[in-house]
Amino acid sequence: MRVAERISKVPPYLFATIDKKKREAIERGVDIISFGIGDPDRPTPPGVIEAMTREIGKPENHRYPDYEGCPEFRRAVAEWYRRRFGITLDPDSEVITLIGSKEGIAHIYLAYVDPGDYSLVPDPAYPVYRLGTLFAGGQPHTMPLLKKNKFLPDFSAIPSEIANKAKIMMLNYPNNPTGAVADLKFFAEAVAFCREYDIVLCHDCAYSEMTFDGYRAPSLLQVEGARELAVEFNSLSKPFNMTGWRLGFAVGCREVISALGIIKTNVDSGQFTAVQKAGIAALLDTPDSFLTGMNEIYRRRRDVLVAGLNELGLKVEKNLATFYLWVEVPDNCTSIEFASLLLDKCGIICVPGTGYGEYGEGYVRFALTVEEARIGEALMRMKTHFGRLS
Ligand SMILES: *Cc1c(COP(=O)(O)O)cnc(C)c1O
Repeated sequence: MRVAERISKVPPYLFATIDKKKREAIERGVDIISFGIGDPDRPTPPGVIEAMTREIGKPENHRYPDYEGCPEFRRAVAEWYRRRFGITLDPDSEVITLIGSKEGIAHIYLAYVDPGDYSLVPDPAYPVYRLGTLFAGGQPHTMPLLKKNKFLPDFSAIPSEIANKAKIMMLNYPNNPTGAVADLKFFAEAVAFCREYDIVLCHDCAYSEMTFDGYRAPSLLQVEGARELAVEFNSLSKPFNMTGWRLGFAVGCREVISALGIIKTNVDSGQFTAVQKAGIAALLDTPDSFLTGMNEIYRRRRDVLVAGLNELGLKVEKNLATFYLWVEVPDNCTSIEFASLLLDKCGIICVPGTGYGEYGEGYVRFALTVEEARIGEALMRMKTHFGRLS
Protein backbone atom coordinates (compact mmCIF):
# COMPACT_ATOMS: atom_id res chain seq x y z
CA MET A 1 0.00 0.00 0.00
CA ARG A 2 1.47 3.29 -1.08
CA VAL A 3 0.76 6.27 1.16
CA ALA A 4 -0.16 9.64 -0.28
CA GLU A 5 2.62 11.91 -1.45
CA ARG A 6 1.80 14.41 1.27
CA ILE A 7 2.97 11.89 3.86
CA SER A 8 6.35 11.64 2.18
CA LYS A 9 6.70 15.41 2.63
CA VAL A 10 6.60 15.06 6.40
CA PRO A 11 10.04 15.09 7.99
CA PRO A 12 10.37 12.63 10.88
CA TYR A 13 8.43 14.31 13.71
CA LEU A 14 11.11 16.18 15.56
CA PHE A 15 10.01 15.34 19.05
CA ALA A 16 9.50 11.68 18.16
CA THR A 17 13.18 11.38 17.19
CA ILE A 18 14.23 13.08 20.39
CA ASP A 19 11.86 10.95 22.44
CA LYS A 20 13.43 7.84 20.94
CA LYS A 21 16.96 8.97 21.82
CA LYS A 22 15.69 9.84 25.27
CA ARG A 23 14.10 6.40 25.78
CA GLU A 24 17.32 4.71 24.71
CA ALA A 25 19.32 6.81 27.17
CA ILE A 26 16.86 6.05 29.98
CA GLU A 27 17.18 2.35 29.18
CA ARG A 28 20.92 2.73 29.59
CA GLY A 29 20.19 4.13 33.04
CA VAL A 30 21.03 7.78 32.28
CA ASP A 31 19.32 10.36 34.54
CA ILE A 32 17.96 12.59 31.79
CA ILE A 33 17.21 16.28 32.27
CA SER A 34 14.86 17.29 29.47
CA PHE A 35 14.56 20.85 28.23
CA GLY A 36 13.02 19.37 25.08
CA ILE A 37 9.28 19.70 24.83
CA GLY A 38 7.37 22.89 25.56
CA ASP A 39 4.80 21.35 27.85
CA PRO A 40 4.10 23.04 31.21
CA ASP A 41 5.25 20.88 34.14
CA ARG A 42 2.74 22.23 36.68
CA PRO A 43 -0.92 21.18 37.12
CA THR A 44 -4.07 22.84 35.76
CA PRO A 45 -5.60 25.40 38.21
CA PRO A 46 -7.89 23.74 40.82
CA GLY A 47 -10.90 25.89 39.79
CA VAL A 48 -10.76 24.42 36.29
CA ILE A 49 -10.63 20.88 37.61
CA GLU A 50 -13.59 21.60 39.91
CA ALA A 51 -15.60 22.99 36.98
CA MET A 52 -14.75 19.90 34.90
CA THR A 53 -15.78 17.59 37.73
CA ARG A 54 -19.13 19.38 37.93
CA GLU A 55 -19.75 19.52 34.16
CA ILE A 56 -18.80 15.94 33.40
CA GLY A 57 -21.79 14.67 35.40
CA LYS A 58 -24.36 16.66 33.42
CA PRO A 59 -26.14 14.59 30.74
CA GLU A 60 -26.64 17.64 28.47
CA ASN A 61 -22.86 17.78 28.07
CA HIS A 62 -22.67 14.17 26.91
CA ARG A 63 -24.12 14.77 23.46
CA TYR A 64 -22.42 16.04 20.29
CA PRO A 65 -21.13 19.54 20.92
CA ASP A 66 -22.13 22.56 18.81
CA TYR A 67 -20.02 22.68 15.65
CA GLU A 68 -18.82 26.22 16.08
CA GLY A 69 -18.25 25.70 19.80
CA CYS A 70 -20.41 25.96 22.87
CA PRO A 71 -22.03 29.44 22.92
CA GLU A 72 -21.09 30.04 26.57
CA PHE A 73 -17.44 29.27 25.83
CA ARG A 74 -17.44 31.61 22.83
CA ARG A 75 -18.96 34.34 24.98
CA ALA A 76 -16.26 33.72 27.61
CA VAL A 77 -13.57 34.09 24.92
CA ALA A 78 -15.11 37.41 23.83
CA GLU A 79 -15.24 38.57 27.44
CA TRP A 80 -11.61 37.54 27.98
CA TYR A 81 -10.57 39.51 24.86
CA ARG A 82 -12.44 42.54 26.12
CA ARG A 83 -10.79 42.39 29.54
CA ARG A 84 -7.33 41.53 28.28
CA PHE A 85 -7.01 43.54 25.05
CA GLY A 86 -9.94 45.97 25.11
CA ILE A 87 -11.30 44.36 21.92
CA THR A 88 -15.02 43.75 21.37
CA LEU A 89 -15.80 40.54 19.48
CA ASP A 90 -19.12 39.13 18.36
CA PRO A 91 -19.12 35.66 19.98
CA ASP A 92 -21.45 34.26 17.31
CA SER A 93 -19.51 35.24 14.20
CA GLU A 94 -16.01 36.24 15.31
CA VAL A 95 -15.10 33.38 17.66
CA ILE A 96 -14.74 29.64 17.04
CA THR A 97 -13.76 26.88 19.48
CA LEU A 98 -10.80 24.70 18.49
CA ILE A 99 -9.60 21.30 19.68
CA GLY A 100 -6.35 22.98 20.67
CA SER A 101 -5.05 25.84 18.54
CA LYS A 102 -2.84 23.45 16.56
CA GLU A 103 -5.99 21.89 15.12
CA GLY A 104 -7.26 25.24 13.85
CA ILE A 105 -3.86 26.25 12.50
CA ALA A 106 -3.56 23.00 10.55
CA HIS A 107 -7.09 23.39 9.16
CA ILE A 108 -6.91 27.05 8.16
CA TYR A 109 -4.66 26.06 5.25
CA LEU A 110 -7.31 23.66 3.92
CA ALA A 111 -9.74 26.56 4.00
CA TYR A 112 -7.58 28.92 1.89
CA VAL A 113 -4.76 27.14 0.07
CA ASP A 114 -5.23 25.37 -3.27
CA PRO A 115 -2.51 23.50 -5.18
CA GLY A 116 -0.24 26.12 -6.72
CA ASP A 117 -0.94 28.69 -4.01
CA TYR A 118 1.75 29.96 -1.70
CA SER A 119 1.69 30.53 2.01
CA LEU A 120 4.12 32.78 3.85
CA VAL A 121 5.75 30.87 6.67
CA PRO A 122 8.31 32.08 9.19
CA ASP A 123 11.49 30.05 9.68
CA PRO A 124 12.40 28.95 12.34
CA ALA A 125 8.83 28.16 13.39
CA TYR A 126 6.32 25.77 14.87
CA PRO A 127 6.30 23.02 12.19
CA VAL A 128 2.52 22.99 11.69
CA TYR A 129 2.51 26.15 9.52
CA ARG A 130 4.67 24.53 6.89
CA LEU A 131 3.02 21.12 7.06
CA GLY A 132 -0.49 22.56 7.02
CA THR A 133 0.45 24.28 3.76
CA LEU A 134 1.93 21.11 2.26
CA PHE A 135 -1.08 18.99 3.28
CA ALA A 136 -3.29 21.45 1.40
CA GLY A 137 -1.08 21.05 -1.68
CA GLY A 138 0.37 24.53 -1.33
CA GLN A 139 3.90 25.83 -1.45
CA PRO A 140 5.39 27.36 1.71
CA HIS A 141 7.50 30.47 1.08
CA THR A 142 10.02 30.99 3.85
CA MET A 143 10.23 34.28 5.72
CA PRO A 144 13.59 34.03 7.54
CA LEU A 145 13.61 35.18 11.17
CA LEU A 146 17.09 36.58 11.68
CA LYS A 147 18.79 37.82 14.81
CA LYS A 148 19.77 41.07 13.07
CA ASN A 149 16.04 41.76 12.49
CA LYS A 150 15.13 40.85 16.07
CA PHE A 151 13.60 37.63 14.68
CA LEU A 152 10.88 39.53 12.79
CA PRO A 153 10.29 38.79 9.08
CA ASP A 154 11.37 41.40 6.53
CA PHE A 155 8.26 41.89 4.36
CA SER A 156 10.24 43.86 1.76
CA ALA A 157 12.22 40.68 1.02
CA ILE A 158 9.10 38.83 -0.19
CA PRO A 159 9.06 38.88 -4.03
CA SER A 160 5.81 40.42 -5.32
CA GLU A 161 5.16 37.49 -7.68
CA ILE A 162 5.12 35.22 -4.61
CA ALA A 163 3.03 37.64 -2.57
CA ASN A 164 0.50 37.75 -5.41
CA LYS A 165 0.06 33.98 -5.20
CA ALA A 166 0.11 33.83 -1.40
CA LYS A 167 -3.13 33.08 0.43
CA ILE A 168 -2.03 33.01 4.07
CA MET A 169 0.68 34.71 6.10
CA MET A 170 1.42 33.18 9.50
CA LEU A 171 3.00 35.13 12.33
CA ASN A 172 3.69 34.00 15.90
CA TYR A 173 4.56 36.48 18.67
CA PRO A 174 5.59 35.99 21.41
CA ASN A 175 7.58 33.55 19.30
CA ASN A 176 8.31 29.88 19.59
CA PRO A 177 11.23 29.00 19.30
CA THR A 178 13.13 32.33 19.46
CA GLY A 179 11.31 33.96 22.41
CA ALA A 180 11.10 37.19 20.35
CA VAL A 181 8.24 39.66 20.74
CA ALA A 182 6.55 42.05 18.30
CA ASP A 183 4.91 45.43 18.80
CA LEU A 184 1.80 46.98 17.26
CA LYS A 185 3.87 48.93 14.73
CA PHE A 186 5.16 45.67 13.31
CA PHE A 187 1.67 44.15 13.31
CA ALA A 188 0.38 47.23 11.46
CA GLU A 189 3.03 46.67 8.75
CA ALA A 190 1.89 43.05 8.45
CA VAL A 191 -1.74 44.15 8.10
CA ALA A 192 -0.79 46.70 5.40
CA PHE A 193 1.23 44.10 3.48
CA CYS A 194 -1.56 41.51 3.61
CA ARG A 195 -4.16 44.07 2.61
CA GLU A 196 -2.08 45.09 -0.43
CA TYR A 197 -1.80 41.47 -1.62
CA ASP A 198 -5.20 40.20 -0.42
CA ILE A 199 -3.71 37.68 1.99
CA VAL A 200 -5.35 36.19 5.10
CA LEU A 201 -3.19 37.19 8.05
CA CYS A 202 -3.01 34.59 10.81
CA HIS A 203 -1.45 35.22 14.17
CA ASP A 204 -0.58 32.40 16.51
CA CYS A 205 -0.76 34.02 19.90
CA ALA A 206 -0.28 30.95 22.12
CA TYR A 207 2.22 32.70 24.40
CA SER A 208 0.41 36.01 24.88
CA GLU A 209 0.14 35.46 28.65
CA MET A 210 3.61 34.06 29.28
CA THR A 211 5.58 37.29 29.69
CA PHE A 212 8.16 38.70 32.09
CA ASP A 213 9.77 41.85 33.44
CA GLY A 214 6.60 43.92 33.07
CA TYR A 215 6.16 43.19 29.34
CA ARG A 216 2.55 42.74 28.12
CA ALA A 217 2.01 41.20 24.69
CA PRO A 218 -0.39 43.01 22.32
CA SER A 219 -3.09 41.41 20.17
CA LEU A 220 -2.71 41.82 16.41
CA LEU A 221 -6.43 42.63 16.36
CA GLN A 222 -5.62 45.89 18.16
CA VAL A 223 -4.38 47.21 14.81
CA GLU A 224 -7.06 49.33 13.19
CA GLY A 225 -8.88 47.41 10.47
CA ALA A 226 -7.06 44.16 11.27
CA ARG A 227 -10.22 42.15 11.71
CA GLU A 228 -11.12 42.71 8.05
CA LEU A 229 -8.38 40.23 7.09
CA ALA A 230 -6.81 38.76 10.22
CA VAL A 231 -7.53 35.99 12.68
CA GLU A 232 -5.74 35.26 15.91
CA PHE A 233 -5.27 31.76 17.32
CA ASN A 234 -4.97 31.33 21.04
CA SER A 235 -4.96 28.42 23.38
CA LEU A 236 -5.61 27.49 26.97
CA SER A 237 -2.69 25.05 26.81
CA LYS A 238 0.19 27.23 27.90
CA PRO A 239 -1.25 29.85 30.30
CA PHE A 240 -3.43 27.42 32.24
CA ASN A 241 -1.26 24.29 32.04
CA MET A 242 -3.93 22.57 29.96
CA THR A 243 -2.01 21.03 27.04
CA GLY A 244 -3.72 17.67 27.58
CA TRP A 245 -7.24 19.12 27.61
CA ARG A 246 -7.09 20.22 23.94
CA LEU A 247 -8.86 23.55 24.03
CA GLY A 248 -8.14 26.64 21.96
CA PHE A 249 -9.94 29.19 19.84
CA ALA A 250 -9.65 31.48 16.84
CA VAL A 251 -11.01 35.02 16.77
CA GLY A 252 -11.22 37.82 14.23
CA CYS A 253 -12.31 38.21 10.60
CA ARG A 254 -15.78 36.66 10.35
CA GLU A 255 -15.27 35.49 6.77
CA VAL A 256 -12.17 33.53 7.79
CA ILE A 257 -13.79 32.15 10.95
CA SER A 258 -16.69 30.98 8.85
CA ALA A 259 -14.43 29.30 6.25
CA LEU A 260 -12.52 27.53 9.01
CA GLY A 261 -15.86 26.46 10.46
CA ILE A 262 -16.84 24.81 7.15
CA ILE A 263 -13.67 22.70 7.17
CA LYS A 264 -14.14 21.77 10.83
CA THR A 265 -17.81 20.89 10.46
CA ASN A 266 -16.83 18.30 7.91
CA VAL A 267 -13.80 16.90 9.71
CA ASP A 268 -14.41 16.90 13.44
CA SER A 269 -17.43 17.33 15.63
CA GLY A 270 -15.95 19.76 18.09
CA GLN A 271 -14.53 19.58 21.59
CA PHE A 272 -16.36 17.86 24.51
CA THR A 273 -18.76 20.44 25.95
CA ALA A 274 -17.61 19.70 29.52
CA VAL A 275 -14.06 20.67 28.51
CA GLN A 276 -15.35 23.91 26.99
CA LYS A 277 -17.34 24.65 30.19
CA ALA A 278 -14.19 24.06 32.24
CA GLY A 279 -12.42 26.39 29.80
CA ILE A 280 -14.82 29.17 30.82
CA ALA A 281 -13.60 28.79 34.41
CA ALA A 282 -9.99 28.96 33.17
CA LEU A 283 -10.52 32.13 31.14
CA LEU A 284 -12.78 34.08 33.46
CA ASP A 285 -12.29 32.76 36.99
CA THR A 286 -8.58 31.96 37.27
CA PRO A 287 -7.13 34.36 39.83
CA ASP A 288 -4.50 36.73 38.38
CA SER A 289 -2.14 35.34 40.98
CA PHE A 290 -2.09 32.02 39.11
CA LEU A 291 -0.66 33.54 35.94
CA THR A 292 1.70 35.90 37.74
CA GLY A 293 2.83 32.99 39.91
CA MET A 294 3.54 30.76 36.88
CA ASN A 295 5.37 33.56 35.10
CA GLU A 296 7.45 34.19 38.20
CA ILE A 297 8.44 30.50 38.23
CA TYR A 298 9.48 30.67 34.55
CA ARG A 299 11.28 33.99 35.05
CA ARG A 300 13.39 32.57 37.86
CA ARG A 301 14.24 29.50 35.82
CA ARG A 302 15.12 31.76 32.89
CA ASP A 303 17.43 33.86 35.03
CA VAL A 304 19.24 30.83 36.44
CA LEU A 305 19.65 29.15 33.04
CA VAL A 306 20.65 32.31 31.13
CA ALA A 307 23.26 33.22 33.75
CA GLY A 308 24.63 29.67 33.81
CA LEU A 309 24.79 29.29 30.03
CA ASN A 310 26.44 32.70 29.66
CA GLU A 311 29.01 31.65 32.24
CA LEU A 312 29.77 28.61 30.11
CA GLY A 313 30.43 30.96 27.19
CA LEU A 314 27.16 30.31 25.36
CA LYS A 315 25.34 33.27 23.84
CA VAL A 316 21.74 33.68 24.92
CA GLU A 317 19.70 36.71 25.91
CA LYS A 318 16.95 37.09 28.48
CA ASN A 319 13.67 36.82 26.59
CA LEU A 320 10.63 38.91 27.53
CA ALA A 321 8.16 36.13 26.78
CA THR A 322 7.62 32.37 26.25
CA PHE A 323 9.28 29.59 28.19
CA TYR A 324 11.98 29.10 25.56
CA LEU A 325 15.61 30.09 25.42
CA TRP A 326 17.09 30.34 21.93
CA VAL A 327 20.72 29.57 22.54
CA GLU A 328 23.52 30.05 20.00
CA VAL A 329 25.66 26.93 19.63
CA PRO A 330 29.47 27.15 19.77
CA ASP A 331 31.11 28.12 16.45
CA ASN A 332 32.64 24.72 15.78
CA CYS A 333 29.46 22.63 15.70
CA THR A 334 26.02 22.41 14.13
CA SER A 335 22.75 22.48 16.06
CA ILE A 336 22.34 18.71 15.76
CA GLU A 337 25.92 18.04 16.81
CA PHE A 338 25.60 20.26 19.85
CA ALA A 339 22.25 18.78 20.93
CA SER A 340 23.65 15.25 20.54
CA LEU A 341 26.75 16.20 22.51
CA LEU A 342 24.62 17.50 25.39
CA LEU A 343 22.54 14.31 25.39
CA ASP A 344 25.48 11.93 25.11
CA LYS A 345 27.88 13.67 27.51
CA CYS A 346 25.56 15.34 30.02
CA GLY A 347 22.21 13.52 29.73
CA ILE A 348 20.63 16.85 28.79
CA ILE A 349 17.93 17.18 26.15
CA CYS A 350 17.40 20.33 24.13
CA VAL A 351 16.02 20.72 20.62
CA PRO A 352 18.28 21.39 17.63
CA GLY A 353 17.20 24.65 15.99
CA THR A 354 17.00 22.97 12.58
CA GLY A 355 13.93 21.11 13.83
CA TYR A 356 12.14 24.44 13.31
CA GLY A 357 13.54 25.09 9.83
CA GLU A 358 16.81 25.79 8.06
CA TYR A 359 17.20 29.22 9.67
CA GLY A 360 17.25 27.51 13.04
CA GLU A 361 20.78 26.31 12.24
CA GLY A 362 23.25 27.69 14.77
CA TYR A 363 20.78 27.48 17.65
CA VAL A 364 19.29 25.04 20.12
CA ARG A 365 16.06 25.59 22.07
CA PHE A 366 15.78 25.05 25.81
CA ALA A 367 12.27 24.90 27.31
CA LEU A 368 12.01 26.23 30.87
CA THR A 369 9.85 23.32 31.97
CA VAL A 370 12.40 21.98 34.45
CA GLU A 371 12.55 22.74 38.19
CA GLU A 372 15.26 25.18 39.28
CA ALA A 373 17.19 22.54 41.21
CA ARG A 374 17.40 20.38 38.09
CA ILE A 375 18.50 23.39 36.03
CA GLY A 376 21.31 23.81 38.54
CA GLU A 377 22.21 20.13 38.15
CA ALA A 378 22.20 20.47 34.34
CA LEU A 379 24.51 23.49 34.51
CA MET A 380 26.84 21.63 36.87
CA ARG A 381 27.07 18.72 34.43
CA MET A 382 27.85 21.05 31.53
CA LYS A 383 30.49 22.84 33.57
CA THR A 384 32.10 19.55 34.60
CA HIS A 385 32.16 18.23 31.07
CA PHE A 386 32.94 21.32 29.03
CA GLY A 387 34.51 23.87 31.34
CA ARG A 388 34.00 26.79 29.00
CA LEU A 389 32.49 26.21 25.58
CA SER A 390 33.75 29.20 23.65
C1 LIG B 1 2.13 25.16 22.21
C2 LIG B 1 1.88 25.94 20.98
C3 LIG B 1 0.58 26.08 20.50
C4 LIG B 1 -0.59 25.50 21.27
O1 LIG B 1 -1.04 24.36 20.75
P1 LIG B 1 -2.39 23.71 21.32
O2 LIG B 1 -2.82 22.89 20.16
O3 LIG B 1 -3.34 24.81 21.61
O4 LIG B 1 -2.02 22.91 22.52
C5 LIG B 1 0.36 26.84 19.37
N1 LIG B 1 1.39 27.45 18.76
C6 LIG B 1 2.64 27.38 19.19
C7 LIG B 1 3.71 28.13 18.51
C8 LIG B 1 2.93 26.60 20.32
O5 LIG B 1 4.19 26.51 20.75
